[in-house]
Amino acid sequence: MSSALSISKIRELNEEYGMFYSIGDGKGLDGSRFHFSAKDNLTTKDHPTTAGSKILSNYRPPFDAAAVERLREAGGVLLGKTSMDEFGFGTFSVNSAFEVPRNPYDRDRSCGGSSGGAACAAALIDGHLALGVSTGGSISCPAAFCGVFGFTPTYGRVSRYGLLDYGNSLDKIGMLAADCATIAELFPLIAGADERDPTSCGHPPMGECRIPASIGIPSESIKGLPPGIRKSFDEAVTKLKDDMGIEVRTLEMPMFRYAQPAYYIIATSEASTNLARYGGMRYGARGKDLGLHFDRYFTSVRSENFGAEAKRRILLGTFTRMVGLRDRYYLRALQVRQAVIEEYRRAFKDVDAVLTPTMPFIAPRFNEVAGMSALEIYLADHLTIPPNLSGMPHLNIPCGYVEGMPVGMQLVADHWDEGCLLQAGMEWGKLFERIRPEAMI
Ligand code: GLN
Repeated sequence: MSSALSISKIRELNEEYGMFYSIGDGKGLDGSRFHFSAKDNLTTKDHPTTAGSKILSNYRPPFDAAAVERLREAGGVLLGKTSMDEFGFGTFSVNSAFEVPRNPYDRDRSCGGSSGGAACAAALIDGHLALGVSTGGSISCPAAFCGVFGFTPTYGRVSRYGLLDYGNSLDKIGMLAADCATIAELFPLIAGADERDPTSCGHPPMGECRIPASIGIPSESIKGLPPGIRKSFDEAVTKLKDDMGIEVRTLEMPMFRYAQPAYYIIATSEASTNLARYGGMRYGARGKDLGLHFDRYFTSVRSENFGAEAKRRILLGTFTRMVGLRDRYYLRALQVRQAVIEEYRRAFKDVDAVLTPTMPFIAPRFNEVAGMSALEIYLADHLTIPPNLSGMPHLNIPCGYVEGMPVGMQLVADHWDEGCLLQAGMEWGKLFERIRPEAMI
């Protein structure tokens, strides 16, 4: 590994970019097999684990998450814990009680979210591997905004043991790196069944590695894109055809438009129940007045320590599960989810993979983010949500630059068919010229 990399350099970089909440001592870095970081919702025994929330600001877990443990056992050195939206609730990494990461290509812009710190670290630290987590796009989005590969595997491929849950039926641990070969080499280390997570799966190892022979582009996904993004995407598609020999078709995937509302119902329903455990008793922040009636005690701890977006999601998720409303919202959202899965299955009868742009705009400036409504922010995820809602593996592939800012495209494969994504990413990496951020170390 690059011996020039030192913890003091990383600390300096962090002053400027805020990608780490905590940085380790770098023991063993010289001569190590590789270095990695973990999003701060993955437990680590030698670092605090906050998930970006004040309610966990003093939480020091006594154990490593399965993915962290496996990377360490394989000779990786954990550099630190990366910044994120509180519990993964966000698209720009600004919903955090702590540092907000800044974009490697322009410090006035967002890194995307919720794994914003992970994408920033992957873009700025040479050879780095960042563990990220996606529920509805939190790997693809920041990878696109920071110009790196972001890989989200099939739901269940990686053990969630040690992950602080957002939405259990949606959460997936994946990887971000500037070079897709880094992911292809290290991902198998964290894949596979783990008895500590009953939803992790001993499904056949990743399929044989071949590039998809054909891809389909849903016509719904390219409507209304800003011209710069559209141009980058179209040029990339031409390269896929001409230089990689991939057959490209247009598809109709009309269920896509329902995926986003269904996702926000399912995700907030699960999140609101998951957050119930933070009540000032078992973990995290405690209230000062232990003499209060327990209801008032919980309310005071939660009011004081959850951020605004977490509170919005608790309200939304509690509402959609209420007696009398459950059938209208939550159960219907589950039906939409099934319909989206079936729509992908139909598509995969015709093509090996589905391609869309990743985000409908380049990384916004922080003042632009501040001017967006919650609904506008939720709508920004409309391309990253369909594969996440259906548990399909997907890969953000850097494909161009607009106004000096990275643009990404997202390739989606069928359940358990991750191999073809990584292979395509590696082949693409040979053709695509990455612009390295100036601050890279
Ligand atoms: N932006 C989406 C949300 O806020 C996705 C976030 C994620 O994948 N954690 O839910």
